[in-house]
Amino acid sequence: MTGEAENDCLFCKIVAGQIPATIVRETETTLAFRDINPQAPTHVLVIPKAHYKNAAELAAGAPQLAADVLAATQAVADDEKLDSYRTVFNTGAGAGQTVWHAHAHVLGGRGLEWPPG
Ligand code: 5GP
Ligand code: ZN
Repeated sequence: MTGEAENDCLFCKIVAGQIPATIVRETETTLAFRDINPQAPTHVLVIPKAHYKNAAELAAGAPQLAADVLAATQAVADDEKLDSYRTVFNTGAGAGQTVWHAHAHVLGGRGLEWPPG
């Protein structure tokens, strides 16, 4: 169910401590951990602890939580001393979403091309 932990969700399992992750930041409502397959020198995923399948469902269902996630991306960038960085929410398989628990990618530490691929 949206907003509650889902049994087969990888990121819900990371929140529950059932799968290890390199956690860089935690708040009451959010968790940030390093991507297992980094695409930049800094590649951190910021997630709401509650389960929403994508950013749009998160924004519609829990706007304050969506704001918490965005605030956490800036905090991660500060911790990583990034002057420039990119925040990405992939939505849908065609855009590269592979984990169906809303997450922001925070990418930085190298030049980032625009437009992205
Ligand atoms: P998406 O492709 O859904 O936008 O992003 C999912 C991200 O989760 C990918 O960048 C992928 O490398 C990362 N990922 C997948 N499995 C794990 C895992 O077990 N641990 C961590 N830390 N990241 C993972
Ligand atoms: Zn989940």
